[in-house]
Amino acid sequence: TGNQSTIDTTIKRRKTRSVKVGNVTIGGGYPIVVQSMINEDTLDIDGSVAAIRRLHEIGCEIVRVTVPSIAHAVALAEIKQKLIKTYQDVPIVADVHHNGMKIALEVAKHIEKVRINPGLYVFEKPNSKRTEYSKAEFDEIGEKIRETLAPLVISLRDQGKAMRIGVNHGSLAERMLFSYGDTPEGMVESALEFIRICESLDFRNLVISMKASRVPVMVAAYRLMAKRLDELGMDYPLHLGVTEAGDGEYGRIKSTAGIATLLADGLGDTIRVSLTEPPEKEIPVCYSILQALGLRKTMVEYVACPSCGRTLFNLEEVLHKVREATKHLTGLDIAVMGCIVNGPGEMADADYGYVGKTPGYISLYRGREEIKKVPEAQGVEELIKLIEADGRWVEP
Ligand code: SF4
Repeated sequence: TGNQSTIDTTIKRRKTRSVKVGNVTIGGGYPIVVQSMINEDTLDIDGSVAAIRRLHEIGCEIVRVTVPSIAHAVALAEIKQKLIKTYQDVPIVADVHHNGMKIALEVAKHIEKVRINPGLYVFEKPNSKRTEYSKAEFDEIGEKIRETLAPLVISLRDQGKAMRIGVNHGSLAERMLFSYGDTPEGMVESALEFIRICESLDFRNLVISMKASRVPVMVAAYRLMAKRLDELGMDYPLHLGVTEAGDGEYGRIKSTAGIATLLADGLGDTIRVSLTEPPEKEIPVCYSILQALGLRKTMVEYVACPSCGRTLFNLEEVLHKVREATKHLTGLDIAVMGCIVNGPGEMADADYGYVGKTPGYISLYRGREEIKKVPEAQGVEELIKLIEADGRWVEP
């Protein structure tokens, strides 16, 4: 009967336009989209089809591929056809490097979205040893970028396809570096220059990213980008990611620190966790981040106490058993608590509770209501029966 809080704890997402990427929509209030990238060479048609399918089957909703040459771009036509014939139409985004405009134009015919990195559209002479650019020189290069980019923008616009303007800290063009420094400001200006070119050509199917390998830089860049976009009345969705996060536990924590911080601010409509591991490993991390923040619920949410001197059973073991038995269910919250002293009150309104009652016995709860006391050995079995009786059980 405690006081009900009047604070709404759901995350308020920044209002963005919806950007269609094939049969998936980024932004516009749609669920936050999970993406990853295959590392196969796209000249290997069968290998790429299999890799895309593998990722898509475990929840990767948009798959990115790199397209380093025209041959790779042409191969994507075949990959796309094979996917449709043998599996389904998976939305694909192609990463085009350098001033590879011919490649971009070719690949834009075959896939749904092209990612460009403004830092690679460089017209400055290499090693020019300059330290500054006059306004006229700055604008002159801007004009060259516009001329180069226009055919791609027009092609994507006319086909109803999308573009990601993906700025990376550490690969800013020289004139941006000299004018704004290797800073969040430089990253934001770099993106805005490309956004303005797109808008001048009446193309607005844009998604923006500001990745960096240092979390504080990445967080600051996205926050600044969102602020500037809002000031300018631009409602483009953001693609969140920490680059070069590494592997293992720290890679996951680093990605989560950056991505979740922004998501909690309401920023971000699509995410990618980049690990130095097979891409399949990235997908569960994405879904766990979204689930933990209450942004997407795709698995059972387990609430478990850390255990203490009052714990009446082996919590680690029981949690493992409960999870193994129920992890295929969706949309449920299940609590495993060591004792009835604090357990029931701290189950965070879980749908079901498995709570230590007396030595050798546990109690099963539906919400806050104690349903029955059963011997510990039958705990998991009885929990499944209870879920079954409520019509919420499905066979694994
Ligand atoms: Fe200890 Fe009970 Fe709290 Fe678990 S629920 S940490 S067993 S007091």
